Amino acid sequence: MLDGKKPESSALEPWKDPAAEPYISIRNVTKRFGDFTAVNDVSLNVYRQELFCLLGGSGCGKSTLLRMLAGFEEPTSGQIFIDGQDMAGIPPYRRPVNMMFQSYALFPHMSVQDNVAFGLKQDNTPRSEIRDRVAAMLELVKLSPFARRKPHQLSGGQRQRVALARSLVKEPKLLLLDEPLGALDRKLRESTQFELMNLQDKLGVTFIVVTHDQEEAMTLASRIGVMNLGQIVQVGTPSEIYEYPTSRFVADFIGSVNMFAGRIVDEDSNYVRIAADEAGCTIFIDHGVAAPPSADLWVALRPEKINISREPPADTRENCVQGVIDGIAYMGDMSVFNVKLNTGRMVKVTRPNLIRRSEDTLTWDDHVWLHWHPASGVVLTT
Ligand code: ATP
Repeated sequence: MLDGKKPESSALEPWKDPAAEPYISIRNVTKRFGDFTAVNDVSLNVYRQELFCLLGGSGCGKSTLLRMLAGFEEPTSGQIFIDGQDMAGIPPYRRPVNMMFQSYALFPHMSVQDNVAFGLKQDNTPRSEIRDRVAAMLELVKLSPFARRKPHQLSGGQRQRVALARSLVKEPKLLLLDEPLGALDRKLRESTQFELMNLQDKLGVTFIVVTHDQEEAMTLASRIGVMNLGQIVQVGTPSEIYEYPTSRFVADFIGSVNMFAGRIVDEDSNYVRIAADEAGCTIFIDHGVAAPPSADLWVALRPEKINISREPPADTRENCVQGVIDGIAYMGDMSVFNVKLNTGRMVKVTRPNLIRRSEDTLTWDDHVWLHWHPASGVVLTT
């Protein structure tokens, strides 16, 4: 989510309000295909006007969950409520839902405006109303100059916007999008992501977007549900998911992470010390953890939260290790360093390239110190 665009006030975070009515309530939904469980006991509430992203790797069950919301699949067990109504046995066309498919499924022989008008014609909407609504929608997705073109005369991004206009023109309360930006190149994806967010803001539709692209989910979502093996393993805002993952799976799936196995050697209610053999140091964390002293645990450290320097930091007792630069990737905005610790373990560290030509350029084989703040490590028990 873009900081500043949608301020995080409680009014915009209905999931924090126990009295708020969910718009979609998925209750213990399971979907089996023969012996195979594609969706496994999923429960989830989504609130009106959210842009909720279901994020997960290929085959984790996200499309199947979306198809059950749309009514193209029935749950094997469990219930789905939309706007307080049980959706059991309700066919897709009687749900307050529209779905935009991965392939866009535009009619190749129809012009852009006829593609957008199609659903309204099917509903016998009066012609003048169709004309006005289609024109307004094409204006919204910035396609008015292309109204008479056929899909093959458009770019991928333009076709994607036609599909979006066609999905939105019927003013669904809920729009389901399956990998909506999958066919676009990176630049176009980024600009279309912002268009999608603006549209969502303007129209007040509730969006559920399925994606395997974590950056897309982080940019678009009010909240993200991370899926693995048919289950939702964590739900949270993009920053919660990134900064406070609750499992190694989520920490590893979202962004890059250095994971160190360890054991507690000292603790109190407001701190914990973890001996991490691979790191070759004790890791001091400035809060207590709810884990028995003998528990196996892991500390996750994001590459951007590790400082890298030639000089030792002031205090080298904790959260501080030495190593040698083993590889560098220059990414323009930042550089990625692979540092081989004295223990032999590789650690990834990123550093923003703040200055064009820095005096302090680090290079291959440099001996460096890595250190991090006591709040930087995330302790995980699963
Ligand atoms: P992708 O990102 O690759 O589209 P996904 O997370 O959307 O993956 P689903 O399409 O929901 O995954 O599929 C989840 C699992 O269920 C997959 O292993 C898939 O093979 C299986 N599956 C989906 N539909 C059927 C079906 N009709 N019959 C049998 N198995 C199915």
